[in-house]
Amino acid sequence: MIQDIAPSRLYNSWQNKAPRPESILMCFHESRLLAAVTEDGLRFPKYAESSADTTFLFSVDDEDFFLAEMPEAPAGFQYYTMRELRDRCEGKYLYAAFTAYHLHLWYADNRYCGRCRGDMQHDTAERALVCTECGHKIYPRINPAVIVGVVSRGRILITRYRRGYAHNALVAGFTEIGETLEETVAREVMEETGLHVRNIRYYKSQPWGMAQDILMGFFCEAEGDDSIRMDDNELKSAVWCKPDEIELQPQQHSLTNEMMKLFRDTNGHLPPEYSPVKSDDTSVKTHIYFTRHGETTMNAADHISGITDCELTAHGIEQAEQLAEICAAHREIGVIVCSPLKRARKTAEIIAEKLHVPIVTDARLREWDYGSYEDQPRSGTPEFQAAKREFGVRMKDGGESLLQLTHRVYSCIDDIRKNYPGQTVLCVCHGGVCRAAETYFHDMTTDAFSHFFMGNCELRQYEI
Ligand SMILES: [Zn+2]
Repeated sequence: MIQDIAPSRLYNSWQNKAPRPESILMCFHESRLLAAVTEDGLRFPKYAESSADTTFLFSVDDEDFFLAEMPEAPAGFQYYTMRELRDRCEGKYLYAAFTAYHLHLWYADNRYCGRCRGDMQHDTAERALVCTECGHKIYPRINPAVIVGVVSRGRILITRYRRGYAHNALVAGFTEIGETLEETVAREVMEETGLHVRNIRYYKSQPWGMAQDILMGFFCEAEGDDSIRMDDNELKSAVWCKPDEIELQPQQHSLTNEMMKLFRDTNGHLPPEYSPVKSDDTSVKTHIYFTRHGETTMNAADHISGITDCELTAHGIEQAEQLAEICAAHREIGVIVCSPLKRARKTAEIIAEKLHVPIVTDARLREWDYGSYEDQPRSGTPEFQAAKREFGVRMKDGGESLLQLTHRVYSCIDDIRKNYPGQTVLCVCHGGVCRAAETYFHDMTTDAFSHFFMGNCELRQYEI
């Protein structure tokens, strides 16, 4: 964000000091700032190049900045709008420019006393203007405003303003006198999009001198019906976006952009301290689909395939494509969690391409490790069926027991519930994993468990 200039630092406290020759001058004229924008970055005139009257602004590290007037631009400098500088520059001098602009407007707007029309002069002890007639004292004005990331079912509400900034934004607005910030959030979201919100969580703040603001970012969740009724006067568009559909702003300056980026980079599950979606809220249901990969070469040969990697057959690919069609009817699938084995991965990729959703690989969804039964013909190995009924016994020669398999599958489902509350998740994995998953949701006798069968690309739905 624009204020993130570490290791540099802006020192904003007022000091009654005079400029030195190397002091930097911030000269505004008709809301434009005198600067030189070159490949080396942003530059401003020095006091040595002028004899203007100055007002101390602030320091950045050991450089002092002063407000001055210089209507005629010296050689190499020209007047830029703040928007031009925002689009073309970055770093500590851009932050200095925004902050100087905020102070410049305050000084320019307060030459006379609002009470008695007397002349204002600078206080000698603090950043304040004092009326020479009646003594009325005023302090710099900062407008509080909120930036709101509204989320619902794994998506975030992205807007574009009807006027002004042309890129993607979030709901935003000024706090009015007599309301709390949380009330501003609820009111602005309602006015701009017709949505009710809940679980308002503070994120971060940002000084935004360009609009004389202090911006406070909040995430919250849409409550009830999440269909949007957009205010056409304020907005040009307001749409729900999945994480991978979010188009960021061209620059990294704004709090808005950071909030959109956070939602995108966390694939829609914000860190718990900012997330408005409560995973312990029992009214928020997570839908989980389980499927088994398409037919493989080892399935076709009727060989035992656990952790042995093998490819899908042409028929297996067709099955995956058919499943993708079926899943497309379930538009609400927001993410695919997938076993790392090739047959599951390929199946997941075919579905993900159709649904335009991300794939998260989770090794806990890999198939049961069958030890030395791997790649044996199923029909010639009757002891394999018997071994699968011994819950606590590891598969021959270094394989896994059923309890070990179930332990990792349960832990994966626990994490899906925690990470994707209120969302719909498709797990693409294996027959043995699907069988273990079934027992997470439903009681099964040993016999029922042994006879449970999941066909290639069959789909089962659970709700928790
Ligand atoms: Zn006065």
